[in-house]
Amino acid sequence: MRLILIGPPGVGKGTQAALLEKEFGLKTLSSGLIFRSEIDAETDLGRLAKSYIDRGELVPNGITIEMMAKRIRSEECRKYGFLLDGFPRTVRQAEALEVMLDEMEMPIDEVVSIHAPEDLIVRRLSGRIGCTKCGEIYHRDTKPPKREGLCDKCNSPLFVRSDDQPDTIRERLKTFYESTEPVIQFYREKGLLNDIDGTKSPEEVFRAILDGIQK
Ligand SMILES: [Zn+2]
Repeated sequence: MRLILIGPPGVGKGTQAALLEKEFGLKTLSSGLIFRSEIDAETDLGRLAKSYIDRGELVPNGITIEMMAKRIRSEECRKYGFLLDGFPRTVRQAEALEVMLDEMEMPIDEVVSIHAPEDLIVRRLSGRIGCTKCGEIYHRDTKPPKREGLCDKCNSPLFVRSDDQPDTIRERLKTFYESTEPVIQFYREKGLLNDIDGTKSPEEVFRAILDGIQK
């Protein structure tokens, strides 16, 4: 099974990726994690990518594609399939991916796009509070700490990440949709898109994804 998972931050993509990984025994390829591991390992690609990130610029398509291609061509991904998360982010990346997978005779089975209204996402994300010490994440509504403002695990003070302030979230969502909408359209035209309502519970969302795949 070869899948692409698309969704804005806060839509529950991580949960669904983990469930899909388990269901189909496939390997999740998260562009964010792959970037970080290349940078940490100080590979040529990692160093190149870092030079753009340090300048606050977007990593060019060619570098991103090369990093992902390395993983997609791995024995593990050929054998067990994969789930792409955070890639492709532009139509150029989607086109390059298509050419590569055609050559490998490993076409994408389905593109899952999870969406939810902006207000719901802002509510979900802005309720997150994190521990300054151990990194544990809480949520004011769904997973409150036992004592207000303190971590259950290590007693350290909790804080709202600057990324999780409502204005920052809205800005991130805007950037996400601007770059991703053309990619979603690209796959819709190819008849590969499965639109999923992300407002439901994680179990219902997963069921809807599976129903789409089985069709
Ligand atoms: Zn803690």
